[in-house]
Amino acid sequence: MTMRIPEGLDTRGCVVLPGGVDPHAHPLADIAAATTAAARGGTTTVLAFTAPRPGEAPTAAFERARDELVPQAAVDVRLHPAIWEPDRLDVAELERLRTAGARSVKLFTAFPELGMVADDRKLYETLRDASRLGMLVMAHCEVTGAIDALVDESLAAGRTDARAFADTRPPLVEEAQVARVLDLARLADAPVYLVHLSTAGSLDLVRAARRRGQTVWAEACTHYLVLDESRYDGPDAERFLVAPPLRSRADVDALWEGVADGTIDTVGSDHAESQYKPDFPPGDFRSLPYGYRGIEVRLPVVLSEGARRGVRYERLADVLARNPARAFGIEPDDGDVVVWDPEPEWTIRDGSAFDGLAVTGRIRHVFRRRVGIG
Ligand SMILES: [Zn+2]
Repeated sequence: MTMRIPEGLDTRGCVVLPGGVDPHAHPLADIAAATTAAARGGTTTVLAFTAPRPGEAPTAAFERARDELVPQAAVDVRLHPAIWEPDRLDVAELERLRTAGARSVKLFTAFPELGMVADDRKLYETLRDASRLGMLVMAHCEVTGAIDALVDESLAAGRTDARAFADTRPPLVEEAQVARVLDLARLADAPVYLVHLSTAGSLDLVRAARRRGQTVWAEACTHYLVLDESRYDGPDAERFLVAPPLRSRADVDALWEGVADGTIDTVGSDHAESQYKPDFPPGDFRSLPYGYRGIEVRLPVVLSEGARRGVRYERLADVLARNPARAFGIEPDDGDVVVWDPEPEWTIRDGSAFDGLAVTGRIRHVFRRRVGIG
């Protein structure tokens, strides 16, 4: 991909990078605000999950978002159909989504309280059918039944605080489902995109699947690359709740190894413009809201921490922009460009989970089709 910046622009001392492509965001609660933040943070294309209403077919939710919300966006937006009612998805619906312009579909294996859990048959059939249609299945991997059992054990032991939220979604809960989804994808002879991988073990499973010849896209998220589970020991633990939860320092380091060696293809924000507020009566961790605002800091945080760890900017541009575009068949404009000044030191003050994080380097300019937007 060649990059074109406006003539005469002084970029001395700076790194010129392709405009960010965020493969994973939930901005539709306020798409104007979320995409304005994206633009400030150097992201010129956002891949946004749809938010179906109860009883709304996936294609109807896709078309509603496409026609009513995407026109309000400050950057380019492509939509991933989120399947919140898996019974509504079959091959005919997949074909309708394809005709409407979708190139992906996302299934969940968690959140039983929302009725979102896709079972093995739904996963297998969707992988098989989507592959034939040239669509990529994205999978949220957690073993829901194990979470339910761990939640009951935790409550029975009188553990109701935010730390228990994280402890009921341990690494094996993620890795067991990653293994299963990879096996089902192999059975279906289909590619698969694994969202928000957070553990060393998940990356090992991805490597093993690729050695078998499978096509696997592996995504990490900004927060798993800089924050760890020690945040759950503090008095403000609730501020850091996210699913999957933050992991150990060893996992953080393993993810960076995965960025450097190419195991991780993409880094998404998993930005939640409004937090998920589970419909449980208050009194324990089940009712705590979770999810991060992170669409604006994705580039600065990953570029800063990546450079500190000695990862080349070319590789960082792959995970932040080029690979997300490639995974979903997007060809960004060559005038979508970010100018990054690697020197300034500052601290994030945005009230998000990243608040207080020290960053080295700052976005100096953002261009979308060669027009300055940030
Ligand atoms: Zn998400």
